[in-house]
Amino acid sequence: MGSQPKLHILLTSEQIEAAVKKLAAAIRKDYQDKHPLLIGVLKGSFMFMADLIRLLDFPLEVEFIRLSSYGRGRESSGKIKVVQGLRSPIKGRDVLVIEDIVDTGLSISFLIDYLQKKKPASLKLCALTDKPSRRQIPVTIDYLGFTVPNKFVVGYGLDWDEKFRYLPDICFIEEEG
Ligand code: 5GP
Ligand code: MG
Repeated sequence: MGSQPKLHILLTSEQIEAAVKKLAAAIRKDYQDKHPLLIGVLKGSFMFMADLIRLLDFPLEVEFIRLSSYGRGRESSGKIKVVQGLRSPIKGRDVLVIEDIVDTGLSISFLIDYLQKKKPASLKLCALTDKPSRRQIPVTIDYLGFTVPNKFVVGYGLDWDEKFRYLPDICFIEEEG
């Protein structure tokens, strides 16, 4: 088996906590009277969503959706599919999608189209991180935590082959060779 990849901290848990607080304040301001439906995109958003929702002290509902992209390794193939769908209707609801990272934008644009067809009253996107250098499709991020450089990041829910989700900081993996 190969050596462990080298990890470098990009965003500390303190920086993340401060960003999540700011996002929660902005979301509370816009949604406190709307009884919104927050849809987390599995699996990467679970930790972010849990921390964010704990700071939202108003009525809301939680859903999850899971996409697959038939990518090999770290590359998204662009062929996106819903592999675990919603359990409740979203028609007429104020929907806020919670993502871990927007990279090429292919997954989230697919998801936004998919959800828009179900006629929500409103549909917005909250992403913890954005990697705009790799964008292939324009994406509007209504609530953004951080812009990150063109590096593969892990931790705080984000994985590398299912590893490193548990890390409290967001780290990048040092490329070998
Ligand atoms: P996109 O379709 O925007 O290229 O990719 C979106 C998904 O790919 C993200 O939701 C995430 O699951 C995964 N992804 C993209 N970049 C990274 C990264 O730097 N680290 C990790 N762990 N996942 C990433
Ligand atoms: Mg994701």
